[in-house]
Amino acid sequence: MKNRIRSFCFLLLLCAMASSARAQQVKNIIFMIGDGMGLAHVSAALVDRDYAPLAMERAQYIGLCKTYSSNNKVTDSAAAGTALATGVKTYNSAIGVGPDKQPLKTTLEKASENGFATGLVVTCYLAQATPAAFAAHQASRSSLFEIAADLIHANVDVMIGGGMLHFTNPEEGVDLIGELKAKHYTIAETMEQVMVFDRGKLAAILAPSDLPSVLEGRGDYLPRATGKALEILAKNSPKGFFVMIEGSQIDHLSHANNAAGAIAETIDFDNAVRIAFDFADRNPGTLVVVTADHETGGLTIPAEKNEKGVDYKFSTGGHTGILVPVYAYGTGAENFKGVYENTDLPKIMQRLMGLK
Ligand code: MG
Ligand code: ZN
Repeated sequence: MKNRIRSFCFLLLLCAMASSARAQQVKNIIFMIGDGMGLAHVSAALVDRDYAPLAMERAQYIGLCKTYSSNNKVTDSAAAGTALATGVKTYNSAIGVGPDKQPLKTTLEKASENGFATGLVVTCYLAQATPAAFAAHQASRSSLFEIAADLIHANVDVMIGGGMLHFTNPEEGVDLIGELKAKHYTIAETMEQVMVFDRGKLAAILAPSDLPSVLEGRGDYLPRATGKALEILAKNSPKGFFVMIEGSQIDHLSHANNAAGAIAETIDFDNAVRIAFDFADRNPGTLVVVTADHETGGLTIPAEKNEKGVDYKFSTGGHTGILVPVYAYGTGAENFKGVYENTDLPKIMQRLMGLK
């Protein structure tokens, strides 16, 4: 009898272990980067909405991330993107290469090699530093035509953003459209074309360079593109997917010290976060990690003379070295808490996806 109880307990233990292993299995990773989004940007967005909660607040685990690069206490988006994509700190301006300028394999590339679908969704041009760092390898972020060619060779399933200038540019003798077609991409130039796309490889290049800012009338492009990309990627591989989604222009407006613009971009990014969190609710096995590559503008929110009001003030037209927030939601979110290096994030993601 005692033996039987013992083996029953052992069986229970095995079942518990198996189910917790299953609960831990991450199938899809949605990595969201608010370029230039510091805690002050998140706070300003809250102030602007009179403290109506942001989607980011649904995060189950929160951390802080150190952003410095290998050659500078204040990183640029290239080095930070490379750190977040590969797990290696490198010099400012490096795209997917280490301090020795040798290519580093990214989470996106490893995911692709392992049968996962992959995607990049941005509001800037696709050859920009952040998306580039996930799928290109160039010593300098300014090698835009070479980066565009690298993006095609990386076999990213779904690319949505701007930057047609870097894919076809007769003046520069550049024509990568044929290569896209040879790689079986459907090319979309409008959101209408994106929204009717079902499955397969999509290169949606919707503007000559960056898309317009929110204040210039971009509308709900980012949340819509996010939802559609997740839908396509889920169909593209039964194994799962890795996608990087960027609120690219929080950075641009912060460089311009345009508080209203930076707040509008942050809220737009948060609307995309809501779509991703909702997807994770409907699709167990999905992990969403939201962070920034660095803070831009040294934004702060001092009290105004008027007793209730606040002001928004920037301390620089460049980037700063303050810690940035990390919000995690969904399966495996518990692995993202505490204070860490930006290089830790891809290492944890790759472990959770079982990538070598
Ligand atoms: Mg960027
Ligand atoms: Zn910047």
